[in-house]
Amino acid sequence: MNKVFLYNTLTRQKDEFKPLHGRKVDLYTCGPTVYNYAHLGNLRTYIFEDVLRRVLEFNGYKVKHLMNITDVGHLTSDADTGEDKLEKGAKREGKSVWEIAEFYTQAFKENLNDLNIKEPTIWCRATDYIKEQIKFIRKLEKRGLIYKTSDGVYFDTSKYPDYPKLARLNLEGQKEGSRVEINKEKRNPTDFALWKFSYANGRSFDSAQDDAASRRQMEWKSPWGVGFPGWHLECSAMSIKKLGKEFDIHCGGVDHVSVHHTNERAQNWGLTGKESVKWWVHGEFLIINEGKMAKSEGNFITLQTLKDRGINPLAYRYFVLQAHYRSKLNFSWEALQAAQAGYDNLIRDIAGLEPPTPRLWRSGKPGQACNTCLGKFTQAINDDLNTPAALAVVQELLKSDKPSSKKRQTIIEFDKVLGLNLNQYKKEKVVSREVEKLIKERQTARQNRDFKKADEIRQKLEEQGIKIKDLPDGGYEID
Ligand code: AMP
Ligand code: ZN
Repeated sequence: MNKVFLYNTLTRQKDEFKPLHGRKVDLYTCGPTVYNYAHLGNLRTYIFEDVLRRVLEFNGYKVKHLMNITDVGHLTSDADTGEDKLEKGAKREGKSVWEIAEFYTQAFKENLNDLNIKEPTIWCRATDYIKEQIKFIRKLEKRGLIYKTSDGVYFDTSKYPDYPKLARLNLEGQKEGSRVEINKEKRNPTDFALWKFSYANGRSFDSAQDDAASRRQMEWKSPWGVGFPGWHLECSAMSIKKLGKEFDIHCGGVDHVSVHHTNERAQNWGLTGKESVKWWVHGEFLIINEGKMAKSEGNFITLQTLKDRGINPLAYRYFVLQAHYRSKLNFSWEALQAAQAGYDNLIRDIAGLEPPTPRLWRSGKPGQACNTCLGKFTQAINDDLNTPAALAVVQELLKSDKPSSKKRQTIIEFDKVLGLNLNQYKKEKVVSREVEKLIKERQTARQNRDFKKADEIRQKLEEQGIKIKDLPDGGYEID
């Protein structure tokens, strides 16, 4: 069994990964806030998480992967102020929040599909777990960890001495308002909302005093008042409900370290009294014009824009894999076009390789793969997902004098992790010489109207995994 090393934000070092339960790994990845299209920065993070999952699977682990869909409670400011992003999106598009959420969830799933990102084992929508979130707050209340203000219910972070650890926060030096905006009723600057009221003090909408246009579409009754859950709460409630009080890995982008994940960790501790998450793993930003690509910065590019410009989404995946997930990556159209050219070359080189022998091919076993190359590749990916080094192994293999079909079989193995759809064939190169001879014989038989013989050869070819489709013009295609 090979060792996998991962950088854990909690310990600030690369540690050997050891799951809590044998060969099973529980993985939670923070999902999209579905008020707009995901941008390329967001998608970089999902590609990194997909590679992490594939690396674990490549090493023989069974991964249960949970991803949430944030369809309520994510406010425009991390300081628990501002508008709910979903409500804002609904106003922008003149639709209901439910329609907005559904539309952008589907768009997000299409992005995942285009980028060859494996679907999570379980999807969780925040609005499907409101009861669980209320129950969670009740438990924190019983432990004396919360307090109420005029605009919501807050977690008292001073009760959790280990609060600063994940982000290495300097609470002493942290002036109120430097990390988040000021809310005078908060006891500590780092306290965060568990439940936000729709209207002051948790009262309901009152047509006599409230402006109908300000009415929230999403709100629920709770023991503290009418409102909606805070954004951090959904991830704690759903991960613990689905993966248990202790689970292996929690991922997200680096921006989540200091607020979202720090707060999740505090809530988890409040509920379980434990360090719930063993591994916090974070991906660095995609940068554009020296700034973070972000919806709020108005500098964001979607996958559709790439497609409109003739860029293959998998060329974007290739571009992302060329950088280590913990390094910043600069986006530019020139760099992306270079990645597209590099990807096309790679596909062309691989398409020219002989297929592995049909028996091994069909059994799906890496019988013919080059073990030395697999060893090097595994060492790269198991070293904190070093995809640039793994791609270098691909190039080294292609340039080597290993037999063509061995190269292909090895690349089929590599692609389980890279997910670049590398196992493509050039039409004219698809068959071995023996198969080519059989196809020619069959063509001759067809021309001679010897259909019995043609069928017998077809049968033989099918036994070797080669399907022939006859075309109306007398030619053929290989499936
Ligand atoms: P959101 O939909 O805003 O909740 O973000 C979804 C994911 O994308 C989160 O894990 C963020 O940390 C991540 N993210 C946001 N901006 C970027 C960026 N520019 N580069 C990489 N990841 C990002
Ligand atoms: Zn989250």
